[in-house]
Formats: sequence, structure tokens, C-alpha cells
Amino acid sequence: MNKILVVEDEPDILEMVRYNLDQAGLDVETAEDAERALQSVQEILPDLIILDLMLPGIDGLDMCRQIKQDPRTRHIPILMLTARKEEVDRIVGLELGADDYVVKPFSPRELVLRTQAILRRSQGSLQSTTDAWLHTGPISIDKAAHQALLNGDPLELTGTEFKLLLTLIERRGRVQTRDDLLDTVWGYEYSGYGRTVDTHIRRLREKLGESGEWIETVRGVGYRFRRERV
Ligand code: CA
Repeated sequence: MNKILVVEDEPDILEMVRYNLDQAGLDVETAEDAERALQSVQEILPDLIILDLMLPGIDGLDMCRQIKQDPRTRHIPILMLTARKEEVDRIVGLELGADDYVVKPFSPRELVLRTQAILRRSQGSLQSTTDAWLHTGPISIDKAAHQALLNGDPLELTGTEFKLLLTLIERRGRVQTRDDLLDTVWGYEYSGYGRTVDTHIRRLREKLGESGEWIETVRGVGYRFRRERV
């Protein structure tokens, strides 16, 4: 399901947008200021951000700039909400990188249609350009290049550690038994090497530092990569 982050300080508009996107079958997260929104962007890596231009503190333009400067988040499309037509030039010009805009007051239907169109576009282009990248929580993985990033910095992993991390992430949210992992990562078709898995998980967690907690131990069963931050 596509995840949308809506950033808007006016509660009525925020609720109206949230309700309509939810009705359209989208997974909606909200934030009322840019500080909290920037944190959410890092945590959930949404598929699209709907961003009000006028926010208290860091405004929508600054937030947009920050997102477009960060290699982890620059691919995320941004739909700007603006109160005045005159602001439109500033938004779509000036290399700010907003992908589209809607002028307030707007109809919920217009916003939903615009949102769906951007998602279709960005997912089409994602497939052709950054097909190999898999993003989850603090980790990005380029399958083809065998490269993993932690918060944008390269992770030094052995081939086995890479494959283990990739397997857990591809099956995130689901428990993997030691035998499942042996089978997929090591290619063993028989059990009895559970300790090998444990050792590699421990090393992988060490390399992930604080983010090691994304790999959860499920007692008596195996391991699970968390689906979301808790
Ligand atoms: Ca506002």
C-alpha cells in the first residue's frame, strides 16, 4: 500500500486530506510541523509527501529543499499545498524540486486524483531508474550492486551478511526460522547449523549499531526484520 505523509498545520485541512486519502485506499501519516515531518520522512520513507507551504518554524520550501538534498529521500515526490497562485512560480521554479502543487481551497477529489497521478508517474520512473534500490527504515539496499547503506552511509558487509540482511528485509515483518535462513542464505537443505545463523546475526547487528534492533529475535523460532519503527 502506498504510504503518504501529509504535513499541514491547519487541523481542519489536515483531517480533510487524511480522510479522503484514506478513503482512496492510501496509508496516511500526518505531521503538523516540519521538524516532526522530517523525522517521519527518515523513519517511514513515504512514497509521496503532501506539504503545506506555510508552516510554523521551518517552512514548506525549506523542508522541500532538505528532502531533495538528502540522497536517501530525494526520490520522494512532493505535492505542495499553497494558499496563493502567486506562490506557484516559487514552488515549481527555483529548482526546489516540488513535483506538483494544488492551490487552496481545493476539492478533495482534485487532491486525490493529483496524488494518484504522481504516484503512477513516480513508480513508473522508479522502475526504470532506481529499480534495484530497496529502502526500509534506516537501510537502503542496491541488490544489483551488492551495496547496503545505513542512514546514507555505506555498510561494510561480507557477502553472507549482505545476503542475510537482504533476505530479512525482503521478508520483513515475517519471522524466519534458522532453517529458512540457512536454506536461502547458505543454501543448506538440512538443519543443525542454527549457531551459524546466530553468529552472523550478531555480527550484522554489531555493524548496524543502534539500528541493529530492527532485527528482532523471536524466541524459540528465529529472526524477523521489523516492518516499522516502534
Ligand atoms: Ca499552513
